[in-house]
Amino acid sequence: MQYYPESMNRLIRSLCRLPGIGEKSAERLAMHLLQAPEAEVSMLAKNIGELKKQVNICSSCFSLSDAEKCRICRDPSRNASLVCVVESPPDMAAIEKSGAFTGVYHILQGLLSPMDGIGPSDIRIAELVEKVVAGSLREIIIATATNIEGEATAAYIMNQLKPFAVKITRIASGVPMGGELKYVDQVTLKKALEARYDI
Ligand SMILES: [Zn+2]
Repeated sequence: MQYYPESMNRLIRSLCRLPGIGEKSAERLAMHLLQAPEAEVSMLAKNIGELKKQVNICSSCFSLSDAEKCRICRDPSRNASLVCVVESPPDMAAIEKSGAFTGVYHILQGLLSPMDGIGPSDIRIAELVEKVVAGSLREIIIATATNIEGEATAAYIMNQLKPFAVKITRIASGVPMGGELKYVDQVTLKKALEARYDI
């Protein structure tokens, strides 16, 4: 690193902090940026700068949004009484790409994981219960991953919602055991949603 100017070293150190980027990759990216057209580099810098300023959390589903409510929650053609519960925005994006779902989402922003010290109050379970208490929901589809954390979270939610008159379904087994939703292909995801079952 001592072979480069300090501004280059600073960039390499920043890039190294990104997931999946080691020092070699960071060095390659920095070299690429140095040689790329000025406009392309400025656009990248601008997009990174605006990300934190403009991306908010939707006040209704807790997905990412550039307004108080996200595009899906604002869409009057979506069925607001059908709620699909997922771990994170990429899981929501995967289901959206499958085109099989016309309801709205509830993003938990994590899964229960006692080993990592993540309990019910660390994710958006209370907010989901509040929505059910408020009344107008017809069905909740729990579409968390089929790994240990996903199943534990699904079981916990089911227990919390048991006292209420709302239909609760679980995404079907087209999702491979241990599978994370965002890596499941669109056809499988579509089938898993269609074949959801009562719990
Ligand atoms: Zn939303």
